[in-house]
Amino acid sequence: MILYKTFHDLEQFLARLKGRAKSIGFVPTMGALHDGHLALVEKAKTDNDVSLCSIFVNPAQFNQTRDLQKYPRQLAQDIQRLEEAGCDLLFAPEVEEIYPTGVPARQFDLGKLDHMLEGKSRPGHFQGVCRVMEVFLSRIRPQNFYMGLKDFQQCLVVKRLLETENIESALHTLPTKRETDGLAMSSRNMRLTKEDRLMAPELYKTLRFIAERICRTPVDDLLQNATQHLRQTGFVVDYLHIANPFTLENYNYGEAQGVILVAAYLGEIRLIDNLVFDCS
Ligand code: AMP
Repeated sequence: MILYKTFHDLEQFLARLKGRAKSIGFVPTMGALHDGHLALVEKAKTDNDVSLCSIFVNPAQFNQTRDLQKYPRQLAQDIQRLEEAGCDLLFAPEVEEIYPTGVPARQFDLGKLDHMLEGKSRPGHFQGVCRVMEVFLSRIRPQNFYMGLKDFQQCLVVKRLLETENIESALHTLPTKRETDGLAMSSRNMRLTKEDRLMAPELYKTLRFIAERICRTPVDDLLQNATQHLRQTGFVVDYLHIANPFTLENYNYGEAQGVILVAAYLGEIRLIDNLVFDCS
């Protein structure tokens, strides 16, 4: 694997590849890599001539300084995992490389997505995600890039970014990778205390509880029971929402498809998860 720290060096290499019409599959990450990230890398490898992973803890998408400071950073270990996975290229820039004159103030038009669920709880978060994605996609110009449905709303936001900015790269989304007890893999899981780690799978169990009943139970009753259950288990629930999977507007009882989305705290760690269901 070749490691690049600057756009200048990366772009020189990519220009040679594109001259030879090789396809690039890009996987943007913030590092502390787990099997969920590596599944994206594997797909990028399978579908393209060259796989490129980025590791960049993007300050623009953190709405809390403490969360940014505490975000796990383990580049040496990540490099080893990417080597083992057979990733071809790694781009691991410093903040100044991405934002040489500071984070631009420009706002992206994300419609309602910017003000609901993650957008509402983490003001500015999706603007920060779009800022870094716009920089990456416009400079790297990969034919394909890969993101996880673990961050369901983020996938919708980036899809919208592609449309509004006329970006030609194709977004491919992959299902959430889970630990054997059902907990969605996340770089933040390693910050859970031992006790909280034992409780954490209850989040996915609750999503499954709802999904198993949603086609024959009114939404409000289910949400009330499930929220109460999570609180009794020790979670501080930020939101638990049943939504249309395309707009994230409220799901109406009887509609064919939906997605259950949850964000909840265990201690100071904020976990998110989601589950798509089909009642047709
Ligand atoms: P992050 O490093 O958290 O920014 O995540 C980088 C990419 O990996 C994003 O597209 C995430 O949605 C994806 N990802 C994170 N966790 C998982 C998971 N458990 N399963 C699948 N994809 C994931």
